[in-house]
Amino acid sequence: MPVPAKRRSRSKKRRGWAHAAIQKHLLVACGQCKRMVNPHVACPFCGSYKGRAVVKHRPLAERRSAKAKATVKPEAHAHPHA
Ligand SMILES: [Zn+2]
Repeated sequence: MPVPAKRRSRSKKRRGWAHAAIQKHLLVACGQCKRMVNPHVACPFCGSYKGRAVVKHRPLAERRSAKAKATVKPEAHAHPHA
C-alpha cells in the first residue's frame, strides 16, 4: 500500500480546498411563463425556448398533477369479488 513520503503542508492543503466551494445554482426567468428555469434549456413548465414552443409534450405542472391523480386510486386495488 503506497504511503506518502512527505506530509502535505497545512498551506498546500488549504490552497487546494480553496476551489472546493459549492457554486450557486444559476436560474433564469422563462421568457414565456416567467418561472425560474435552467438556462440554455427548454422550459419544463411551458415547453418554450427563446420565446417559441419547442416541446410538444404536456407541460411539467400538468404532468405532475396527472401523476398525483393517477397514484390516488383506491378502487383500482380493491378485490373485484369483494
Ligand atoms: Zn416557461
